[in-house]
Amino acid sequence: MSDRDAEFEDWIGRARRAPVREYLQRKGLWTQRMMGDRGTACPACGGDDRFAINTRKNLWNCRKSGMGGGALAFEAHLRGLDALRGQDFLDAAEAVTGEAAPTRSQEPWDERQARLKREAERLAQRQTEITRAEASAAQAQRQFRERERTRAWKLWRDEGREWRYSDGERYLGLRRCEAGDDAALRFHPVMPFWHDGEILFRGPAMLAAITGPDADEQGRLRFSGLHVTWLDLDNPPKYRRVIAHPATGEILPAKKVRGSQKGGSILLVRARDEHGAPCAPCMIVAGEGIETTLAAWNALRATTPAALEGVEFRAFVNLGNFAGKARETLRHPTESRTDTLGRVRAAKYPGPEPMWPDDIAPVPIPPSCTDLVWLMDADGDQVRSDADVARGAARYSLHYPWLTVRVARPEEGCDFAQMRQSQGEAA
Ligand SMILES: [Zn+2]
Repeated sequence: MSDRDAEFEDWIGRARRAPVREYLQRKGLWTQRMMGDRGTACPACGGDDRFAINTRKNLWNCRKSGMGGGALAFEAHLRGLDALRGQDFLDAAEAVTGEAAPTRSQEPWDERQARLKREAERLAQRQTEITRAEASAAQAQRQFRERERTRAWKLWRDEGREWRYSDGERYLGLRRCEAGDDAALRFHPVMPFWHDGEILFRGPAMLAAITGPDADEQGRLRFSGLHVTWLDLDNPPKYRRVIAHPATGEILPAKKVRGSQKGGSILLVRARDEHGAPCAPCMIVAGEGIETTLAAWNALRATTPAALEGVEFRAFVNLGNFAGKARETLRHPTESRTDTLGRVRAAKYPGPEPMWPDDIAPVPIPPSCTDLVWLMDADGDQVRSDADVARGAARYSLHYPWLTVRVARPEEGCDFAQMRQSQGEAA
């Protein structure tokens, strides 16, 4: 091989291995949304969610055009070509490497400059269009979320009724997790249950206000959504309504959230000082569900009421609000699953290390609070829940460096709510 050939091979190699992300950044086409699960507009052919990048594999993919690959393939897509041949290939490799092909220097300097300028202008134009499209999509999403939030707020404020002496209070009594006067709970006697855009039925429901992560100037958390539990007081042991889909018979969850739950929580017990006056919390005890969290409060109130001074209780609505996203998924040591082709694979689970930085806001923890206690639901798989808890503890310590995060483990195989209930039944 001549020096010239070797130089050419090297150049081609650089083009083929070029990192897609850096290449897009260099062209001014990069957006953070390209990394997300949802996808975003394709810089070459538009749309709003067809394009995504896997930086680990150094590959991009455009679902609409069916194209994908490395930086060279992207350059082809950008030029509207299905494949790169001859001069097109050399042009593309020059664009990707930012170096002229070693084999050709025939193109007159001024022609080449004019060509590169046109190319740059076209790309700048494209970038402007993408930015505009993303901004308007984000705006539409914000408006949609705000409408949902307003609807949820109206259900809470206008249709929700006083909690005391309602079937909602009776429900928590049956579950042996009574709520105090502070709890952000209300009751709806005929709450509609929506599914796929239609109302399947209306029935009694417990409403809970989800607040945060946004707060006003005084630090009061903003209403963000409504947590709904449909009740059936004749259906022990959970006393929730069994909802079967009328067409498929599938059992649907008796809990729903309207509005947003990301970074939100439900206030169940306000912190109080030694005189019983509301105060800034020094500790927050949190669980995923309302019942679990209230059961812990009831248990502590019965045994060690003095220990509750300055302690606030909150339900974090879902595990994700505590545990967040994982940096990586791991192979489960014992579980397996069968994929669509019938192959048995090791199951994956979110590992103990948090994704950092992450894009889910944590539940706001005030500076007065130095301790966060997470009430663990131990009714799931031990490997997964250990990883979730470790991840949540690490995540909150990263967000709030002054915070000590601890985990309260219930007896193996049942959650706090069930534990409290069985204590009551045994007595
Ligand atoms: Zn495309």
